[in-house]
Amino acid sequence: MPQPDVPYVQEQLRLARCAICKQNRFAIDSRSVGDDGDWKALCLNCHYHFPVYTDMEFYLRTQPDVPHRLNDIACPHCEQRGVSLDFRIVMSVRESRYFVTCRHCRRAFTEQSFLEVYE
Ligand SMILES: [Zn+2]
Ligand SMILES: [Zn+2]
Repeated sequence: MPQPDVPYVQEQLRLARCAICKQNRFAIDSRSVGDDGDWKALCLNCHYHFPVYTDMEFYLRTQPDVPHRLNDIACPHCEQRGVSLDFRIVMSVRESRYFVTCRHCRRAFTEQSFLEVYE
């Protein structure tokens, strides 16, 4: 599973809303981009920072339930089930999101993280 690149992540982040000001324009802090896959994103409006995790191979190894749940997500575009996980963000203590791509039509969308939902 390749790690997503910075332009892709910045583009996909437009699907999220800032926890503070509810805008959706974000930049990745280039100084935070390293091999460990733990990046920082910055709201361009209010400068709120939040973490972006891009090493999903590692994440899926540590969260064995998540792959099953990914197989069960229905795509809002083509209504088929099954997505791949591109990266995830922790927007606030209450909101963590997965950024996923439909395995059938290849369109991207976001899902609330399962861990919060089912805990
Ligand atoms: Zn903001
Ligand atoms: Zn689809």
